[in-house]
Amino acid sequence: KRVEVEAAVHGINPDLLDERAVKVVKTLTDAGFEAYIVGGAVRDLLLNMRPKDFDVATNATPEQVKGLFRRAFIIGRRFRIVHVVYGRGREHEVIEVSTFRALPSESEAVAGNEKTAKGELEGKSHAVDASGRVLRDNVWGPQIEDAARRDFTVNAMYYDPVRGLVVDYHGGLADAKAKLLRMIGDPETRYREDPVRIIRAVRFAAKLGFTLEPKTLAPVKASSALLANVPASRLFDEMIKLLQTGHSLASIAQLKKLGLGRGVFAVLDAMLTETGDLYEGVRGNFVRQAFEDTDRRVQEGRGVSPSFMLACMLWHEVLDRWTKIRNTGEPAVPALAQAIDAVFDARIGDISGRGKLAGDMREIWMMQTRFERRTGSGVFSLIEQPRYRAGFDFLRLRADVGEIDPALADWWEDFALGSDDDRQALLADAR
Ligand code: ATP
Ligand code: MG
Repeated sequence: KRVEVEAAVHGINPDLLDERAVKVVKTLTDAGFEAYIVGGAVRDLLLNMRPKDFDVATNATPEQVKGLFRRAFIIGRRFRIVHVVYGRGREHEVIEVSTFRALPSESEAVAGNEKTAKGELEGKSHAVDASGRVLRDNVWGPQIEDAARRDFTVNAMYYDPVRGLVVDYHGGLADAKAKLLRMIGDPETRYREDPVRIIRAVRFAAKLGFTLEPKTLAPVKASSALLANVPASRLFDEMIKLLQTGHSLASIAQLKKLGLGRGVFAVLDAMLTETGDLYEGVRGNFVRQAFEDTDRRVQEGRGVSPSFMLACMLWHEVLDRWTKIRNTGEPAVPALAQAIDAVFDARIGDISGRGKLAGDMREIWMMQTRFERRTGSGVFSLIEQPRYRAGFDFLRLRADVGEIDPALADWWEDFALGSDDDRQALLADAR
């Protein structure tokens, strides 16, 4: 039941469209392929929100897509897609183009079995692990099947920007209007195929203010144990996304509401009580304020750094351990380094490719000891550090929640902004 919905009914504002995404669609259709804006962008457009990124779905294969654009790269193994790139450097934009995927057939969905494609294209296959989790998903198919293998009805619509039509197979338009998250197909099976869909439900509920439709909600808690099978790095990425929706506190509240308050993300567990709430007092206020600042930045369209957020989330655990190690007589700086190592081991573990992130967190934390010394040349070298600003913002946050004397943060602010004379006076005062 393919439904085409006209502009007068769906009411999408064309000003919210991205020129490059429209260009990608036109290039593909001019070459004789079908192409649509798809997924989250269509959902956001229907909610009159400007999508943060645009995905395109087409019946062209990745190789055919690549051949039509000057800068296009086939990426991914588990899920092969094409990145069409416009612009350079910080201003560059990526449009993700995916080929319509087929539904896995019964015979292919045998647990533990890897079968090759039914189509002629070589090396495209579905694969699932023993728990039924989809490992690979590269069998091309018609649009109707592509729609059915997406997660929620509101994420499974296609928009043709040239004709102004929304294509809807699963009643997504009605669900968007009713602010309902409804899983396509049997929710329990869909969570089993990919447990990350549970976290996606949390994210969309928090970000969009949607409610989980009863059948979609029912198996959530029981299915959450399957998250243990998901590779740590994918789960980590999902957690970061959850915290960067501009609704981080709502996401945490939503996790709690669904019975997932604790035990899903080790990093979150570090900052929540046994009931899944923030701690009372300074400890809770510190993360609450960090999250409120982050949400404000996201909503203003400014960037947020995951390393800063994570440094905030794990700070009190670092602080506790630091204090304990210091009390054994260890000097402050090596004690902090040891505390940081212990917290990384306990909460982040070995996640490859996180070197930069961990390095940035470590720098923010280590800087906190240097702020305590307001004498000598270290003061000048500290404010010249590339990561000084993040370290200072962290210090300010500690002062704001009453963890340290605000005069210390004021001193550093005055020093960083002051003239040479101001600085000499501040140094003299601190002595
Ligand atoms: P966001 O606004 O956060 O980007 P999104 O819906 O665009 O939300 P993406 O992760 O960018 O989310 O995925 C794009 C689309 O791909 C989704 O809208 C959905 O149709 C499909 N999709 C993504 N992840 C899954 C999944 N785990 N299972 C099924 N479909 C998925
Ligand atoms: Mg998206």
